[in-house]
Amino acid sequence: MSAPRTVDVLFSAPQDVYDEFHPAIMAALKSVGVPARISPELAPEDVDYIVFTPNDLIKDFSGFTRARAALSIWAGVDKVLGNPTLTLPLARMVDPGQREGMVEFVTAHVLRHHIGMDRYILSSTGWDQTAPKLARYRKVAVLGLGELGGACAQMLSALNFDVHGWSRRARELDGMTCHHGAEGLTRALSDAEIVICLLPTTPQTENVLNAQTLALLEPGAVVINPGRGALIDDAALITALDAGTLGHATLDTFRIEPLDEDHPFRAHPKITISPHIASLVRVDSSAGVIAENIRRGEAGEPFLHLVSRQEGY
Ligand code: NDP
Repeated sequence: MSAPRTVDVLFSAPQDVYDEFHPAIMAALKSVGVPARISPELAPEDVDYIVFTPNDLIKDFSGFTRARAALSIWAGVDKVLGNPTLTLPLARMVDPGQREGMVEFVTAHVLRHHIGMDRYILSSTGWDQTAPKLARYRKVAVLGLGELGGACAQMLSALNFDVHGWSRRARELDGMTCHHGAEGLTRALSDAEIVICLLPTTPQTENVLNAQTLALLEPGAVVINPGRGALIDDAALITALDAGTLGHATLDTFRIEPLDEDHPFRAHPKITISPHIASLVRVDSSAGVIAENIRRGEAGEPFLHLVSRQEGY
């Protein structure tokens, strides 16, 4: 049997990301038996695999004539999907560590509102002893039941929330009610008290939370958006918060990042902002995902986590 060839991997990312990931991916490739050279710069025609952050560092993919795949180290690939020169198989990151982190972030923010953390614990005035309702009586809508949304929905269901999930295709997940399609969105959102957005941005999901859909929620409901900024109509969100029909919004993602210092979200008393940190890719677990896809490419096996150009995610 001949020795496996040494593959040339272009790792296109900001320097600090490169420094962090390089040793981890080398170690992961070694453990799956793929000899490799990883470099931040290579002549395009010499590249076997492109590992990259899809943030425009590579603008033209047409010179990568022998590359077998482009492997994103980010979960979201919306920024690169419209690039007509990227015709290679494109895999996105599905990282078990990132999934775990997202479940922690979402659960923490749901519980903040569920137990009335701001009202009962962080506020030192008054003596309001109204008991918060039990989770089983609180409807939570999870928009997106994929790798991240599905895991969050399952955790919330394990905590007894009345979970209603929404996806594009019909899905069945234990312990919750699943909806799909336009009518399903209405059913998922109607009277929900907490909404979590974990959808990709596509032409079908942009502004999925707008004046009309926000009006379906229980008065005083909370929106938590670690998905993508474009999922929400910003003006409709502010209008609903100011009118009091919406109680609070916790936003981790924005149409333009970093969020402008003067953006009205920053000073709004009913908005909590975090700087797109809901869940970052974890180096150790994600390096193994990249290495496994390169191993698959070398073995002629199908790549994991391929993005559908047609569906846009
Ligand atoms: P997946 O691709 O695994 O899941 C996407 C989900 O959205 C699926 O359930 C899919 O439905 C559903 N969906 C897509 N289009 C529609 C539609 N038109 N109508 C209804 N449902 C739809 O994505 P992930 O779970 O991995 O990621 C979700 C989001 O989280 C992404 O936007 C990603 O960028 C973001 N993210 C944010 C991070 C942060 O730190 N803030 C970190 C990582 C990711 P179906 O099941 O039928 O395919």
